[in-house]
Amino acid sequence: MSLPRLRLERCSFDNGIWTIDAEEAHHLVRVRHCYTGSLVEGLLNGEKITLRLHCGGGAVTARELSRETEAAFEPRMELVLGLLKNDQLDEALRFCAETGVFRIHLAVCERSVPRYEGARLADKMKRWRKILDEATKQAGAAAPPLLCEPVPLSAMDFAAMPAQRLAAMLSDGTLPLRDAAIESALALAVGPEGDWAPEEAELLLAEGFAPVSLGARIMRASTAVAAFCSGAAMLYKK
Ligand code: SAM
Repeated sequence: MSLPRLRLERCSFDNGIWTIDAEEAHHLVRVRHCYTGSLVEGLLNGEKITLRLHCGGGAVTARELSRETEAAFEPRMELVLGLLKNDQLDEALRFCAETGVFRIHLAVCERSVPRYEGARLADKMKRWRKILDEATKQAGAAAPPLLCEPVPLSAMDFAAMPAQRLAAMLSDGTLPLRDAAIESALALAVGPEGDWAPEEAELLLAEGFAPVSLGARIMRASTAVAAFCSGAAMLYKK
């Protein structure tokens, strides 16, 4: 069985001992019912660290026993995701962390309902990164997906994306995902709740995205993220 996990970014380290921050300590002790002597797994910057917990004197500390660097997840997936409304986006972000997405490019699409800027955007970015961090504990991922600030789809830097590109589309003439030969790095695209506008679908095709079907049923965008990313990861053969 896997060990209870915590993220170590906000914990301090001195001489082999980690002092666990209040939020992670609360989660381990009150939610996961850990106690002095429990083994837990710390996640930090791509490393997995085995720790033995000590609870006492109003603090939770942990002795570091061993650490290992997590192997890079393959395939390396970059997801272009149409900006979604609150709950849908939260859910989609969790699925990204769970299915092994490397980087998320949020695209402001013609049919995206939310528009964020300034302090509101900064707050949202902080919240979304926290959701990704939390989801890595469930997934046992040492590093969360990287999250890029939303930009209009038309301003996205496609040149920096992997050469293999697949876009989930509801139109005719799509390739079933199961027939795609997944390469070691790829870009995937999922549209917003209102779907891609026709000119956005054209832009993606012009940028080399092959239109892909995820099946006969129309999924919510967050479900499409889960199906697409986990499907691509499962189809990848080294
Ligand atoms: N409102 C649209 C409708 O009902 O026609 C549905 C848009 S869907 C919720 C949002 C996105 O999910 C789409 O742009 C597409 O990228 C993806 N998607 C959902 N189901 C799909 C499927 N079966 N095949 C391919 N893409 C799908």
